Amino acid sequence: MARPNVLISGASVAGPALAFWLTRYGWDTTVVERAPAFRTGGQNIDIRGAAREVLRRAGLENTVREATTGEVGTRFIGNEGKIVAEFPAVKSDTEGATAEVEILRGDLARIWVDAGAGQTEYRYGDRITVMRDTGTGVVVSFENGTDQRFDLVVAADGIGSSTRGLVFGEDVTVRPIGMEMTYLTVPRTDSDTDWWRWYNEPGGLGVTLRPDRHGTTRAVLTSITYAGSDSGKPADRRTAEEQKTHLRDQFSGVGWEAPRVLDALAGADDMYFESIGQVHAPTWSVGRVALVGDAAWCASPISGMGTSLAIVGAYVLAGELAAHVDHRDAFAGYDRIMRPYVNQAQKLPPGAPRILNPRTRVGLGALRVGLRIASSRPAKRLGAQMFSPPADNIELPDYTHLEQNAEGVGLPR
Ligand SMILES: Cc1cc2nc3c(=O)[nH]c(=O)nc-3n(C[C@H](O)[C@H](O)[C@H](O)COP(=O)(O)OP(=O)(O)OC[C@H]3O[C@@H](n4cnc5c(N)ncnc54)[C@H](O)[C@@H]3O)c2cc1C
Repeated sequence: MARPNVLISGASVAGPALAFWLTRYGWDTTVVERAPAFRTGGQNIDIRGAAREVLRRAGLENTVREATTGEVGTRFIGNEGKIVAEFPAVKSDTEGATAEVEILRGDLARIWVDAGAGQTEYRYGDRITVMRDTGTGVVVSFENGTDQRFDLVVAADGIGSSTRGLVFGEDVTVRPIGMEMTYLTVPRTDSDTDWWRWYNEPGGLGVTLRPDRHGTTRAVLTSITYAGSDSGKPADRRTAEEQKTHLRDQFSGVGWEAPRVLDALAGADDMYFESIGQVHAPTWSVGRVALVGDAAWCASPISGMGTSLAIVGAYVLAGELAAHVDHRDAFAGYDRIMRPYVNQAQKLPPGAPRILNPRTRVGLGALRVGLRIASSRPAKRLGAQMFSPPADNIELPDYTHLEQNAEGVGLPR
């Protein structure tokens, strides 16, 4: 019997993870990525709860552990660089701002891509332009390639997924959260430590610095957008050069390490920026086209769950496809298992993101007092829980019995 084939759009976390699992279940997998080559950029992301279990089942937990950033916890920095409060990393799958498994997004994506090497075809510098569902398959047109037929197509191309836009229409909404984030790599200096250091200034501005394992430091500039504040067009409509100019204006005069990060903008070739938001989709499939990862349910970086959801979602979608003959049953199972987990992750802590990025000097003072109390010994547990997303609240199905060898024969257990 011919092996089923799938086209996956997006080679970050969800796409390569989905390809990895589907290959294990005997599918032919192709991933198309818009960027001209594998994207190395991105910062520390957390792998929590059930996502850790998926890595174990994939046999990748040790590989991921060897690639972690070594971040030892989170420190909030006040005036003159003084430490206001600190929250050490906790030895738990789920708790704390710094999770036990912190890895750079690019390093994690690379691990999934390498794990499927030789089995999944990766096509860089291309994207889907048209999809025609024939009832028995999907005929796909590419920007740079010839038309091709696939049994299924999955969009794993992030919050702004244009592939999703081709099929899902107005039912999917991207709700802005009122915050912009810019990520870049900066040269490491002697003042850098293995702590995640987080500095705020009134006006909803934030600068954070985090360690990596490549001899550099990862910086993020964040800003809250207020009703009536005129920040021109949103980040996702600016070019990289426009974004740099915008940040130089917005952060001029900001203290602590802001000038150093602004200086690094000129040479930042991996800068990534976004207006953060959440994706709400009443359904994650239309006919033979499905969504996974941020394209389906982006919960935003504030949730601390984006990557964990992508890993778990890819595992469940692949497993359900392997477990059902009819893709409609598979998509229904995928929705049933993932929907409650996603809904929980999308519930952000009360007041987020503004509470951690105050607009006024008074608000900033109150935040610092609150953080000091939360980090004090008696309240430490509460402090860790403040940053603890619902990462374990899913029962992961076991699909091990569906794994196959290259000839499509079930593996002995
Ligand atoms: C370069 C980069 C850096 C990031 N840095 C951070 C970070 O520091 N912190 C954080 O919390 N989150 C970051 N994210 C987002 C984070 O990876 C996701 O929230 C999470 O891991 C879920 O991943 P995903 O695979 O669903 O989507 P994403 O990680 O957003 O990946 C989507 C992929 O699809 C590709 N793509 C987009 N449109 C198309 C198209 N039309 N056709 C083909 N391919 C397309 C993109 O280039 C990207 O590789 C980053 C994402 C990227 C792409």
